Amino acid sequence: IPVFDVYALRKQFPVLEREVKGKPLIYLDNAATSQKPAVVIDALVQYYTGYNANIHRGIHTLAEEATAAFEATRETAKHFIHAAGREEIIFTRGTTEGINLVAYTWGRANVGKGDEIIISAMEHHSNIVPWQILCEEKGAQLKVIPVDDAGELIMEAYEKLLSDKTRLVAITHVSNALGTVNPVKQMIRSAHKAGALVLVDGAQSTVHLDIDVQDMDCDFFVCSAHKLYGPTGVGVLYGKKHVLEAMPVFQGGGEMIKEVTFEKTTYNELPYKYEAGTPNIADTIVFKTALDFIEQTGKEQIRQHEHELLQYATAALETVPGLKIIGRAKEKTSLVSFVIDKVHPQDIGILLDNKGIAVRTGHHCAQPLMQRYGIPGTIRASFAAYNTKEEIDELLLGLEKSIKLLV
Ligand code: PMP
Repeated sequence: IPVFDVYALRKQFPVLEREVKGKPLIYLDNAATSQKPAVVIDALVQYYTGYNANIHRGIHTLAEEATAAFEATRETAKHFIHAAGREEIIFTRGTTEGINLVAYTWGRANVGKGDEIIISAMEHHSNIVPWQILCEEKGAQLKVIPVDDAGELIMEAYEKLLSDKTRLVAITHVSNALGTVNPVKQMIRSAHKAGALVLVDGAQSTVHLDIDVQDMDCDFFVCSAHKLYGPTGVGVLYGKKHVLEAMPVFQGGGEMIKEVTFEKTTYNELPYKYEAGTPNIADTIVFKTALDFIEQTGKEQIRQHEHELLQYATAALETVPGLKIIGRAKEKTSLVSFVIDKVHPQDIGILLDNKGIAVRTGHHCAQPLMQRYGIPGTIRASFAAYNTKEEIDELLLGLEKSIKLLV
């Protein structure tokens, strides 16, 4: 078992050495994107200096090396989320593209007039808008699972929404605005009983929880590398093989074909059927380095550390007069969203930045959720493996000083 040493871990992240506004950077915006360890940055340079080539087509050495590295990421990603086969791992640009791919292909083939798609009140815009577009086009209806005051989904309401009209349940595993971990396994069981498929948005969960798509039994799972200590511009769409096989193609072009004539084109096998054109080779290759980094650091150790940060931050923030934590679910990842009486979240965000502290303020791409709580937005501090209790102390100090200035 690797020993978890947060101070040693921090040394692996070059950006954590920089200063912002003359103060050491305190990066608490990890739910937006995580920082990258030196191994990931180095791997990117090694690819471009060592074996940059287009993949799958060439027979020369560089092309073979690049192809092998690219496919090695697929294998690692498969293990990371416990998929049954490599053909179930499709590389995308990220979570957003994964969801849109499913909406455009599976959605257009399987959703019709009068059908229903269920989402929840805590979805990120990227798990709302693609379904809205689909529903408008098809005359289908979007149904929304409500959330309670604590930020948990109301399960009785969900069960009532399910019917033989339900084609798909698209649900986030973890809320990016509240940190709530949703009971996806139970929800998937209910959806399947009703004859619906389930897409799980894993953008926030994959870095914090153990993902086992087979145990979960989801039909689709999507995530983004950049929230997993990896590069931007890469994500994974997992789909059950028989579901992906039955789906129409997405983009047309090179790589996704078997044979092209002007009369008829036949399509490539999975996963290439959904990977038209030259993919983001460099970042996909480097994504493996990021996943290996997480495994080597120790998923369980990271989770334990992040849990301690969550407990510590929650207790500390509760002592601030006028501060209210939004999202008090029993099961949460390492994220605290809050509002403060009489101050606008953005003003706090600016004052904290002056102290080198990076938090996210605003609606977190979840405007309907903010409307549910009757607030314009929150201040969100989200923690990664490299954050420390000392940083949370600084956040608290920064908040107290900012409130004094503003109120
Ligand atoms: N869903 C959730 C829950 C998210 O937190 C995010 C990223 N903020 C997304 C979807 C979209 O991910 P990406 O921007 O990487 O496509």
